[in-house]
Amino acid sequence: MKTSAQKQFAKNPDRYRDEPLFSAGKDLEFMVNSVSLQGDEVLLDVGSGAGHTAIAFSPFVKHCTGVDITEEMVQTAALFAKEKNAFRVSFLQGDAEKLDFPDASFDIVTCRFAAHHFPDIRRAVAEIARVLKSGGSFILVDHYAPEDKALDQFINQLNQMRDPSHVREYSLAEWNEWFEENGLDYIEKQKWNIPIDFENWIRRGAVPEEKRPDIIAHLTGSSPACRDEFEIVQNDKGEPVSFKLKGILIVGRKR
Ligand code: SAM
Repeated sequence: MKTSAQKQFAKNPDRYRDEPLFSAGKDLEFMVNSVSLQGDEVLLDVGSGAGHTAIAFSPFVKHCTGVDITEEMVQTAALFAKEKNAFRVSFLQGDAEKLDFPDASFDIVTCRFAAHHFPDIRRAVAEIARVLKSGGSFILVDHYAPEDKALDQFINQLNQMRDPSHVREYSLAEWNEWFEENGLDYIEKQKWNIPIDFENWIRRGAVPEEKRPDIIAHLTGSSPACRDEFEIVQNDKGEPVSFKLKGILIVGRKR
């Protein structure tokens, strides 16, 4: 049976390949610069999507393997890597919660804008820690929920309304706990706001027309605290134009 993520991401892998948020996000540069690379590292990218993270790291390491649960994404990434002349990369279909690799087989594991789709995040973090060598680094990028419960609920509900495969964007306290549970030192490297163009975001999510009014009402009827935190902008007709998600880069060094 197909998972909710497979159904969602099989719809339009090319949009994830071409969207500047994924292809040209400054966070790719933050990720590559977040650890010191010697050139002999073996890297695993979990939830590799159209391949942007694996391709960005490939000139600086020995080999990158991308794993993604959606076969259509795996095919898109493999073709895209060829087009970009990225040779030290390969892509496989697989599940973050059941990584098909021996213990301690990677120097680096990356995971960018994918963790909020994993149904059992604790299991995925345990798997990532298992396949990392001692002294290796887990480099995580995702959007996160504020510690305030109302803000957390607002942003998670918004993302679930648009994408049924959105499980939860976690708080930094949650990430800290799971890193600790799995022997990973927790180092927050970078925080930034991720600008989201409303119409683009709706199109990329292939949102059915009938869901639009509820999503708009959720944004436009939000509290002043939500408007302020997520920088919600409306046009002079009151329609949502843009908002911002909260981005984080965390490095987990395996003890
Ligand atoms: N990491 C990509 C990048 O840097 O451009 C973007 C990732 S895309 C937004 C999220 C990806 O997570 C999708 O391709 C989806 O198929 C994948 N995914 C969702 N659940 C997964 C799971 N349990 N295991 C592996 N991949 C998963």
